[in-house]
Amino acid sequence: MERRSFITQAAVAGAASTLAVPALAADLPSIKWRLASSFPKSLDTIYGAAENFSKRVSQLTGGKFEIRVFAGGEIVPAFQVLDAVQAGTVEICHTAPYYFFGKDPTFAFDCAVPFGLTSRQQTAWIDQGGGRELMREFYKGYGVVNFLGGNTGAQMGGWFRKEVKTVEDLKGLKMRIGGFAGRVMQKLGLVPQQIAGGDIYPALEKGTIDAAEWVGPYDDEKLGFYKVAPFYYSPGWWEPSAQLSFLIGQKKWDELPKEYQAAIEAAAAESHVIMQAEYDARNPAALARLLKNGVKLRQFSPEIMDDCYKAAHEVMDEEAAKNAKFKKVYEPWKAFRQNQNQWARVVEHPMAEYLIKSGNK
Ligand code: CA
Repeated sequence: MERRSFITQAAVAGAASTLAVPALAADLPSIKWRLASSFPKSLDTIYGAAENFSKRVSQLTGGKFEIRVFAGGEIVPAFQVLDAVQAGTVEICHTAPYYFFGKDPTFAFDCAVPFGLTSRQQTAWIDQGGGRELMREFYKGYGVVNFLGGNTGAQMGGWFRKEVKTVEDLKGLKMRIGGFAGRVMQKLGLVPQQIAGGDIYPALEKGTIDAAEWVGPYDDEKLGFYKVAPFYYSPGWWEPSAQLSFLIGQKKWDELPKEYQAAIEAAAAESHVIMQAEYDARNPAALARLLKNGVKLRQFSPEIMDDCYKAAHEVMDEEAAKNAKFKKVYEPWKAFRQNQNQWARVVEHPMAEYLIKSGNK
């Protein structure tokens, strides 16, 4: 309903533009915000979503609402952007909410959960499946309001120096893997390491770590992991999709004119869709280049997948048993996931499977 009322307002503003000064531009205040991104400019798809968002908000408000975008570390360290929004240092951040897993694992539902939702399912859950309401209630405790901010799609399982065929092969393996996935992998004997993007390559090269996960072909290619860890595994079961979010300080949001709130909603929704489209369009060519460079594509064995699935649900059930906020989201989220997957097997999945088999002819 909010979108429709925005279109009506835009139409009214358009009609009024035959006059010398459009009513919208004349009556609304000039506002400047600062946006702290958790990402470096080199991640052009993810960082670029915040730039697109800012550009569109400006265009939709006749240049009166300016949001300046800062890369991770420029004014706020990458993993402290939520703290900065809470403190009012910046009005808004763009981030992967599972970075705040350490504060509360419930943040992961607004980003990625092991064996969770695909990109389309995640958007459906947030936008139409009750996810937005559940997450807004959770975010209230942090004084922020959340908006969809893109998705990477399913991520790759990462780069390994040696092949892993059985769960036994994971034991003692040092892998750069964060948050929820790290806790699950620990159950299987792997030693998770938290390492920032720029430090992964030297650690892999020196053999300080045996494996590392990042995103997918388009982003991974730039960091050059294939030169030191040639086995490229699929799928990254800890991220069947990874959603980004814009988080805005509740007070700052409440103070905005409703026209600017509508501009934010529209610009965030647009940036959300564009990011997934960019990844879908760019990943195949990046993977083809990687394979040309000698990368060896591998799938995690059914044995590894089944043990990880079991361990992931043990970790989530343990969390739900001791964390009421987590449980409140987890229960309806699980029901949504089940319904989505039952529906997917009726038509989306068989259609995709057939197209994949016949698509090269
Ligand atoms: Ca990842």
